[in-house]
Formats: sequence, structure tokens, C-alpha cells
Amino acid sequence: MRWLGAVQSLFFAGQIAHCMVLNGTQIVHELGSILSNGSSIYLPADADWDTETTQRFDTWHAPTYVVSVKPALTTDVQKVVRYATLHNISFLATGGGHGYSGSLGALQNGLELDLGYFNSVTVDAANNLMTVGGAVRFSDVEEPCYAVGKAFPVGACPCVGLAGASLGGGIGFYSGLYGAISDSLVSAEVITGTGALVTASESENSDLLWAIKGAGSSYGVATSLTYRVYDYLNDGYAMNADMLFSASQMSSLFTFAKSWLEKQRKELSITFSLIYVATLQEVIHASVPYALNLYEIGVEDLTAAVQYFNDTVASTAALQGVFLAFTQYAQYGFQQHPQNSSSFPYRDVAIQIDGSAASDDDVPIIDSFEREFRDRLVNISGKDELEVYMQFSHGDEGADAWFSAANVPKLRELKRRYDPLDLFRFYNSVDVD
Ligand SMILES: Cc1cc2nc3c(=O)[nH]c(=O)nc-3n(C[C@H](O)[C@H](O)[C@H](O)COP(=O)(O)OP(=O)(O)OC[C@H]3O[C@@H](n4cnc5c(N)ncnc54)[C@H](O)[C@@H]3O)c2cc1C
Repeated sequence: MRWLGAVQSLFFAGQIAHCMVLNGTQIVHELGSILSNGSSIYLPADADWDTETTQRFDTWHAPTYVVSVKPALTTDVQKVVRYATLHNISFLATGGGHGYSGSLGALQNGLELDLGYFNSVTVDAANNLMTVGGAVRFSDVEEPCYAVGKAFPVGACPCVGLAGASLGGGIGFYSGLYGAISDSLVSAEVITGTGALVTASESENSDLLWAIKGAGSSYGVATSLTYRVYDYLNDGYAMNADMLFSASQMSSLFTFAKSWLEKQRKELSITFSLIYVATLQEVIHASVPYALNLYEIGVEDLTAAVQYFNDTVASTAALQGVFLAFTQYAQYGFQQHPQNSSSFPYRDVAIQIDGSAASDDDVPIIDSFEREFRDRLVNISGKDELEVYMQFSHGDEGADAWFSAANVPKLRELKRRYDPLDLFRFYNSVDVD
């Protein structure tokens, strides 16, 4: 229905979308009668709602649900998608629950299509392949790979969904070697917005494979994904070194980072994190993300920007839950894969910047400071327009910034083919029009 698409675009004007008034009990009854026995359905009032359904990492602009459906089989997922379409019910598939884009807040009182039962991991060492279910997390694949002498380029936090991350690219400390996680995606079983189950691979629906390797959550539900795995290096050991620097050393650190741009070893990833520790944060509730890509390291400009950041945070109690990370991967891994091999757009980034700030009470102040700081950095990013890693984005940057202006026309055309009703529209999505 078109009105739902219009609702999404109103989100950042401060208006929240409410999908049709859902009666969770009715859905339990109707879906319960058609799903296979192993499936489960929960209502928020159920005692085990918090433990049995996928909970979201962040309370900021969180989607809300009147019902959570956990299908057991791929055919059950198809039934849920068709049922939701028939009854005009807005829904979101959830994997690891770590999607934190503000765009998700547009889904209120919807249906959670919880992929929690799609949690299998199979490593085929002989063929260097790994097949996982749609809700498997980074932590679930490390041991099975290591046990057979293989490595896989997971991201930094173990609890993030592997499908969720890699459908939007997926970056981490192995990116310098292997590129984005999506670069290792070989094929996926996807239930599209038409309810069809299709294989996306080089030989079948290769255009869909291109699209889901970067903009994947706009096209359907991936119940099974097969990735390339790699012989592990260094007997499977990696070294992590944490060092503490004072703010006065910032200029030297950026000089060092700049000197590494051309010669960074592909095995090495560097992250400079700024964490203000004047007050001890207790529990993180609302975390407001911002991010951007830097293509050049202007030492003086960056040092001045960070100095401004430090001074402002130090003098503003409301901002003292901020976290800012500058991560530098070797470009080698990204550049092993041609630009047109997928919709993952940005392969020549010098530094990925992502920041968030946690607070329950001071979200407007935090939001406005982070936005202002992000906009300052855009001016020294080496590009005229904001470009951002979609998975770390705030959620209002738009498709050109997430996927690149060059990719958007093809992504739209594919969206019209695979999700013509725009069912998969709540997460930094590609528009149908
Ligand atoms: C603490 C934290 C650490 C992070 N670390 C990293 C990192 O190191 N590297 C990195 O690249 N990103 C990282 N991210 C960002 C992460 O990649 C995105 O937030 C990603 O969307 C999370 O996926 P999920 O499955 O956990 O989340 P969910 O909230 O479950 O899903 C997010 C989006 O992906 C879709 N989705 C999930 N699974 C499927 C599926 N099987 N089929 C179709 N759509 C699906 C959902 O519908 C939703 O639109 C991090 C995020 C957090 C909060």
C-alpha cells in the first residue's frame, strides 16, 4: 500500500508511523493454524517475551511489535510474508537485533518476523564454504571455522547478526584481508516481497545477489546464506593491542595514520577510539548513531575537529556518554573485488568514522551535537557529499549516501522487481520510486 511508503518519508519530520491496528491475539490464532508445529508465536504480555524473542540492542527509535512470530521452516517464512501482505501488516525480519538505524522507529505496533530458529552453521572445509541460517551471529561461526582450520571475516562485536551485517556489507578487523563480509557471500535463499523463494547466486538471479551484497535488507528475508571461508593464518591466532593516548597526542596519531595510508599491511586494522570517561556510564539505553567516510587524512583539520569535540564534551555533562571511533583498514581486501561486483559502494575509504552517545534523558542535545560534529567532518572528508557506511548510519542520510548515487537507479529497478509492494522498507531502504 502506498500510504505506508509515504509514512516512512515523514519519519524524520517527527511523525511516527502506525500501521493498521493489529490484533495480536487474532494473528496468533490465524497464523498459528497455518504454521508448522515447530514455529512459535509470542505476544508482548507473554512471560517469556523477553527471553524467547529477539530483543533490540538500542532503545533509540526502536520498532515496536504487537506480536512476534518465529517460523521454523522456510515455508513458514513464506506464509508469514504472504499473510502480512494480504492483511496489510507491517513487519520486520530480525536476526541479531543489532540494527540501530533510526529508520527502524517508523515501524510501530508491527509484526516481528523473528528468524531465531534459523540458527544452523555448517562448514564445508573441503570446498571452503560455510552455510548459515538467517539469525546466526558472528560469535556462532568463529569456533566452527577455527575447528577445521578456517577463518571468516566477522565484525568486531560477537552478538551482531551475520546475515544482518553482511546484507549491508559488513566490516571488521579482517576487512583489510578479505574486504566486506558481503564480498564472501556466494549465495542466499531469499523470500522476496512477492513471497517467492529464490536463490541468489552467480548462476541464478545474479542481479539479486548483486543487490543483497550491500542493500540486502530492502529485498527480502534471507533464510540461508553461503559464504566463502579461508584457510586461517598464524595458526588461527590474532593479536589485539590496546593502547591509551592522551588527547594532546592526537596530531601525532593522525600523522601516523596518514603515513600508513599507502603501506598499511593487510593484516593490520587500526582503531582510534575517543571515549569520555569523566562519569561512569551505567546501563546503555538510547544510543544515537552517526557515521561518515573519510577519504583523506588532513592532520591539522582532523586534530582541530577532535579538539573541538573534546572541549565541547568536557564542558557539557549531557554529552559525556559519547563514543567516537576512527577505524583504518588496509584497502587491499576491499580492492580485491571489482566496484561493480556488488552494491557495497565504498572501497577506497581512508578512515571509517562512527560515533554514538548513550543516554536516556539527553537524546535531543546529543543528537544535535553529533549531527553538527558529523557535518563539520564532512567538510574535511575529501568528498563534497556525505558518504556513509550504511550499517553505522543515523538513518536519514538517504539512499545516495548509503549505496552511492551510481548504484541507486539499478537498486530501484531491482526493488520494483523483487519487492514491488515495498514490504522491506524499514531499514535504510531503497525506494521503489
Ligand atoms: C554493538 C554493535 C556492534 C556492531 N559491530 C559491527 C561490526 O563490527 N561490523 C559491521 O559491519 N557492523 C556492525 N554493526 C552494525 C550491524 O552490521 C548492523 O546493525 C546490522 O544491521 C545488524 O544486524 P542484526 O541482524 O544484528 O540486526 P537486526 O536488527 O536483527 O536486523 C537489522 C536489519 O537487517 C535485516 N535482517 C537481519 N537478518 C536478516 C535476514 N536473515 N534476512 C533479511 N534481512 C535481515 C533486518 O530485517 C533489519 O532490517 C554493529 C552494531 C552494533 C549495535
